Amino acid sequence: MSAANHWTIPKIRMALEAKQISARELTSEFFSRIEKKNPELNAYLTLSPERAYAQADRIDAMRARGEKLPALAGVPIAIKDVISTRGVRTTCGSRILENYIPPYDATAVERLERAGAVILGKANCDEFAMGSSNENSAYGPVRNPIALDRVPGGSSGGSAAAVAAGLAVGALGTETGGSIRQPASLCGIPGLMPTYGRVSRYGLIAFASSLDRIGPLATTVGDTAALLGAMAGRDENDSTSANVPGSDYFEEMAKPVRGTRIGIPAEYFGEGMDAQVRSKVTAGIELLKTLGCVPVELRMPHTDYAIATYYIVATAEASSNLARFDGVRYGLRVKGETLRDMYKKTRGRGFGAEVKRRIMLGTYALSSGYYDAYYLRAQKVRALIAQDFARAFEQVDAIVTPTSPSPAFRLGERTNDPLQMYLADIYTVTGSLAGIPAISVPCGKTSEGLPIGLQICGPRFGESRILQLAHAFEQAGGFVI
Ligand code: GLN
Repeated sequence: MSAANHWTIPKIRMALEAKQISARELTSEFFSRIEKKNPELNAYLTLSPERAYAQADRIDAMRARGEKLPALAGVPIAIKDVISTRGVRTTCGSRILENYIPPYDATAVERLERAGAVILGKANCDEFAMGSSNENSAYGPVRNPIALDRVPGGSSGGSAAAVAAGLAVGALGTETGGSIRQPASLCGIPGLMPTYGRVSRYGLIAFASSLDRIGPLATTVGDTAALLGAMAGRDENDSTSANVPGSDYFEEMAKPVRGTRIGIPAEYFGEGMDAQVRSKVTAGIELLKTLGCVPVELRMPHTDYAIATYYIVATAEASSNLARFDGVRYGLRVKGETLRDMYKKTRGRGFGAEVKRRIMLGTYALSSGYYDAYYLRAQKVRALIAQDFARAFEQVDAIVTPTSPSPAFRLGERTNDPLQMYLADIYTVTGSLAGIPAISVPCGKTSEGLPIGLQICGPRFGESRILQLAHAFEQAGGFVI
């Protein structure tokens, strides 16, 4: 994609207001790009042209009447396929929901549409958002648009690839333990995980409810800010959504960053990190210094336990959440001799290997006799990890780390080694467990041209601060597509 046909939210607004393009024309431009490139990338699983053109026509009619256009008027968006869309197939990347059509919209989708966004379709993802490479989708892997033999990251791999390839201006992804930030990093775009509770989970098909969040991916930090602004805020339909008013993140993003104290935790710069990732992230910290940020060395002593803790909490909650897919209420049903036999066959055929592995691990961790040793202990360690962050934020305004220990790996390289795959999440699961917001921003490329991401974490509800830093960093480094 060349810079000339690279659309951003402000550019779309200007072009619509200046009558250089209609929302319908823009929508059709994106569908023709998708038609051309999606067969190779597999970023979209389902397209929703009827819904998209109906919305585009509404925007064009408003414009013709001279009405003020809403904030996201005409902005083409992809929605990760674990987020419910009324009347549009929602598979969760799973066979078990192959023909599932939700009767309602997720609040996040409804709010984006109310703000004028055009929903193009549903983005491929790891099955039930379990994975770090998008290779766990029942509908085939997504290819990284930067290097087609590589993974886009996961689990929001389709969302990241669609945006990076210019097949959507923005996308919704979801995070349980890195699934927005890591694919954003591997595809060379910004991706934001909001504070737990900032964006309603209503209509997000649950993986691990105490960790799941919805957030935006886009080609500029400003666009992620605008998308967050449209979705943030209390929702009566989600009791865990916080009663904390959102802000105009896009406006606030431009505030100066001079004097910001940035914590650099030693635990995030240890072994296991690719040398080129280390050098670009270190250079990124230098760049933040030239912007007037003040680095502070930190210790976050419980970091080493994060992967183990995450994979107990997340699998335990998943085993409980996925019990609802039993062939009775949703999606696939495989006939059996008895009810029990029907459950077994449906779940046996409907779920893929990784989902089954998680259900078994999680069921074990919750079973009587083991609950205290695994789940309860993991919850205690989770509290210690959250405390590491709380203590750090007494000294600093933000924490800067790599997003992923390596750039995009080759398709198939890690599929036989789940532990190796889980290690991709080493720098991201901490923030997930702690409930804080964090953003990944591009910070350069390897010698082979593979993108590298820098992570900026903030205190709970501190999205404005991390967006300011990310925006200043993006501008100063010229890290815009
Ligand atoms: N890679 C992690 C996992 O497989 C994170 C997934 C996510 O954030 N949804 O659980």
